[in-house]
Amino acid sequence: MIIVLKKNATEKQIKHVVERLKELGLKSMISRGIERAIIGAIGDEDILRSQPLGVFPGVEKVMAVMAPYKLVSREFKNENTVVSVSGVEIGSDKLVVMAGPCSVENYDMLFKIAKSVKASGANMLRGGAFKPRTSPYAFQGLGEEGLKYLQQAGKATGLPVVTEVMDIRDIGIVERYADMIQIGARNMQNFNLLKEVGLSRKPVLLKRGMMSTIKEWLMSAEYILANGNFNVVLCERGIRTFEDATRFTMDISAIPVVKRLSHLPIIADPSHATGKWGLVTPVARAAIAGGCDGLMIEVHTNPEHAFSDGEQSMLPIKFKAMMKELKPVARAVGRTI
Ligand code: PEP
Ligand code: MN
Repeated sequence: MIIVLKKNATEKQIKHVVERLKELGLKSMISRGIERAIIGAIGDEDILRSQPLGVFPGVEKVMAVMAPYKLVSREFKNENTVVSVSGVEIGSDKLVVMAGPCSVENYDMLFKIAKSVKASGANMLRGGAFKPRTSPYAFQGLGEEGLKYLQQAGKATGLPVVTEVMDIRDIGIVERYADMIQIGARNMQNFNLLKEVGLSRKPVLLKRGMMSTIKEWLMSAEYILANGNFNVVLCERGIRTFEDATRFTMDISAIPVVKRLSHLPIIADPSHATGKWGLVTPVARAAIAGGCDGLMIEVHTNPEHAFSDGEQSMLPIKFKAMMKELKPVARAVGRTI
């Protein structure tokens, strides 16, 4: 921690800070410049994180030197983590594509979509059985019935299934039917939910909160790892900005930033980020070029009648065309798809 003192800080005030640091078991290194002094607090930075040193008289600001996350950091583990989801590896040279409808609506539609995305090269099936909807009057998902359909469609096509859990009480049934647990953007900072999936043995897909910084997102991942589950995949799904041409703004730079800071795999979701199916392919291309480990794509056989997110859902034929288009982009950055 670096403690920057005010220009007019007195020796008495400096001493007061140094004494407090000593009480906390930290050493101080005082550096006196022409205009102001700074104190370097040497020792375990975590001790200081919860200390209100900023309120000490004469202190201008307190700056952390180390990142607050540990287990998710590259310092903790330098080599890339590869997460296995029922045999599908995420984080290797081969990109993983999770595709399927926004919501599971019935078995027939799900099976049709699963079969088509599998034929086009998808590696996993996605679909929501518990839906986080802005309106309480909108379709909330089929619940356990939807989970059963996901399991059946996944088995029939050989695609492992990823689906969202919103409530701690549903973790048990989601674990029973799905291969990977998704934590949605709106629950990225539901810390009790994060702790509980940290205790699960299922891999977790942690989406970025639409109003969260990369640091907050990695801290949320830290909750899961700190509770024992190291099988975490991050998903950039767009953040809220002033731009309203797209549903959210895909933060492409988050991909290389996360790659630098963390060993965890990261995938991109251009469907939710753009909100428009016609923008999904170009943004997917950009995400691959940016170094993501995979994609999450919404596909629907009848977007006009979709129960949710029809505007951003690709027809199976468009998804097929996209998968073909992404191949040379993947190849250009040393990956396959
Ligand atoms: C989803 O993937 O179904 C979803 C609701 O996404 P997000 O949490 O990113 O909005
Ligand atoms: Mn959706």
